[in-house]
Amino acid sequence: MVGGNAIRGSRVGAGPMGEAERGDSAPRRKVTYYCEHGHESSPSFAADAAIPESWDCIRCGLPASQDREHPPAAPRIEPYKTHLAYVKERRSDEDGAAILEEALQALRKRRSL
Ligand SMILES: [Zn+2]
Repeated sequence: MVGGNAIRGSRVGAGPMGEAERGDSAPRRKVTYYCEHGHESSPSFAADAAIPESWDCIRCGLPASQDREHPPAAPRIEPYKTHLAYVKERRSDEDGAAILEEALQALRKRRSL
């Protein structure tokens, strides 16, 4: 609790005061994107930069577009169970090798004693 408040209070990453007020650098324009959840992301681009058609939502990471009424469809997210099954599938190979390596190291350690 105390640690979190301290970090928030120090404003880590805040630029030097006044930097944002100086408008004499390259002109920028703000483009607002809307994701399927209705979140708004407003990145700014250099005035002469190409504006991307879609943008990843800054809040949920879904693709967002400038068309509020027709945001891009969210990619199908696999349920956790499926992910777990996938991890278990992989485990047979990768973990098998890791477990073997661990056993070998333990054996060597025991020998050196
Ligand atoms: Zn979003």
